[in-house]
Amino acid sequence: MATSVQAVVAHAAHDLRVEPVAAQALGARDVEVRVAVGGICGSDLHYFHRGGVGDFTIREPLVLGHELAGIVARVGDAVDGLAVGDAVVVDPSAPCGVCRQCRRGRRNLCLDVRFLGSAARFPHAQGGFRERLVVDGAQCVPVPPGLTLERAVFAEPLSVAVHAVGRAGAILGRDVLITGAGPIGMLILLVALHAGAGSVTITDISEAPLRVARRLGAQAAINVSEPAALPPVEIAFEASGSEAALEACGEAVGPGGRIVLVGLLAPGLVPIAGNRMVTGEREVVGSFRFTGEEFRAAVAMLGAGLDVGPLLSGRFPLASSLDAFAAAGDRDRSLKVQLQFSDVDPAAAR
Ligand SMILES: [Zn+2]
Ligand SMILES: [Zn+2]
Repeated sequence: MATSVQAVVAHAAHDLRVEPVAAQALGARDVEVRVAVGGICGSDLHYFHRGGVGDFTIREPLVLGHELAGIVARVGDAVDGLAVGDAVVVDPSAPCGVCRQCRRGRRNLCLDVRFLGSAARFPHAQGGFRERLVVDGAQCVPVPPGLTLERAVFAEPLSVAVHAVGRAGAILGRDVLITGAGPIGMLILLVALHAGAGSVTITDISEAPLRVARRLGAQAAINVSEPAALPPVEIAFEASGSEAALEACGEAVGPGGRIVLVGLLAPGLVPIAGNRMVTGEREVVGSFRFTGEEFRAAVAMLGAGLDVGPLLSGRFPLASSLDAFAAAGDRDRSLKVQLQFSDVDPAAAR
């Protein structure tokens, strides 16, 4: 057994290295996944550019990556239902199962969660951009027949969208605004349409993703790099993390409507037009990650043919990770950029 594997490690802002890290020990309940493909997420980009995301900062070298699919390479003695050679997508979240939030069913808010590739706790939870990854068997979800790994790996960001749409409440027939046409905003678009939203308007300051949003079925895709009027809506999803977009959501949502905050904002205090919330009884709710049930639902949606293909804009080998991160950060060129970790073909149906 190799004692080390190649990994993508963030040491500090703008200090990203492809280097060997120690191979992980396999416990009785664990599975070793030969990682085939990983999606670069907005949070990975924030660790790369700023050395942190939201209010979390890198304090020790952090293996990035939490959007992962691959092939089972080894299985612990106590693992049921998974075998060597199975194609799996990895749920990066391992809630404790016993804290107050877990016991209330809000496992995405677990007080003691381990989430792959996150600096939220110290020592950090190391991530999955590595050739081989050991996780609890319960975190491995079989890839449905006919689905490719390059699409299955969208399950993680898709779960974020599924959770966000759940936080919006009843959406059938409602008019919806999404601010931010990055991968999360786009996946919220797909889930909102799937759930029967009356209309979906999406905004961004870059033209290229707006063109894709129109193809995906947005009724309006509006460039807000210049001042632009937005239609009145009942539900808004803030998926850009920008203060200006938060303000736009507050203006667009009518009395009794709801704003779902999905994008992580700047650390600390962010202004919000409070009296609009008071006098219009508008609700502002946060939406953070997803539960295991939502992750499995997302895998099933992909297996049933939800078309995320237009969101995939490129793939780079592990050795070219710096190029991949540069491409992923160029919003005029890229939506979702993937890394490839092995010779397993991510485009082959399983
Ligand atoms: Zn992600
Ligand atoms: Zn918990």
